[in-house]
Amino acid sequence: MKLTMLGTGNALVTECYNTCFVISDKDKHFMIDGGGGNAVLYQLKQAGLNWMDMRDIFVTHKHLDHILGAVWMVRMICQYMNQGSYEGEARIYGHEEVIDILRKMGMKLLPKKQSRFIDDRLHLIVVEDGDKAEIMGHEVTFFDIGSTKAKQFGFTFDMGSGEKLTCCGDEPYNEIEEKYARDSKWLLHEAFCLYGERDIFNPYEKHHSTVKDACELAETLNVENVILYHTEDKNIAKRKELYMAEGKEFYHGNLFVPDDLEVIEL
Ligand SMILES: [Zn+2]
Repeated sequence: MKLTMLGTGNALVTECYNTCFVISDKDKHFMIDGGGGNAVLYQLKQAGLNWMDMRDIFVTHKHLDHILGAVWMVRMICQYMNQGSYEGEARIYGHEEVIDILRKMGMKLLPKKQSRFIDDRLHLIVVEDGDKAEIMGHEVTFFDIGSTKAKQFGFTFDMGSGEKLTCCGDEPYNEIEEKYARDSKWLLHEAFCLYGERDIFNPYEKHHSTVKDACELAETLNVENVILYHTEDKNIAKRKELYMAEGKEFYHGNLFVPDDLEVIEL
């Protein structure tokens, strides 16, 4: 299996795309979030992925930098279904608020000839805290991260052989996620900026954490590999080097600070 980072930045970045990614198992794909717009199509193309192969999409929460790219996916899927060039079905998962927005936007923004496929061949699926779904042959469990900003879900993905990949969304780990995050083979966690630059970027007032915080957390959760994302982009050319240097002081597993379009073997 592999993971392709389509984007790695926070909501306001201009030097990279907003955080979203694809987990792939051979020719099957699970896309998580869409970033903030039409550039999701560009990123998929640059990554060598066909947008049409994104048959299972999960949207973590309603913030613009996550949901608007999914609106473009809804449009593309419905448009190509109408043209007769999109075979089969697609599924978008999200909690009730997310699905309600996607359905309303699809119904109001797309012409009827396209929107008619919503809830017909494009399934908008509401997930509750703890719900499971089978996605590309793997069990995925969705969970509420307990956000106080906008309701947000993360997920844990059963990789087989007792191994799991857990995504905590774009907010700091909350102890209600412990049963999912602890002992994960892979943990995806946000890191807004370096701890050393916390006074410049003020991550805590935005409900975000630093590289040090995320790495200390991963150490205590007995995680084998950590992927940091949803970062600031002011020094993106050196981001990997600087974040790796800070993170390795606090975490002794395998640390990843991917750039956009980077592919990680899981
Ligand atoms: Zn975000």
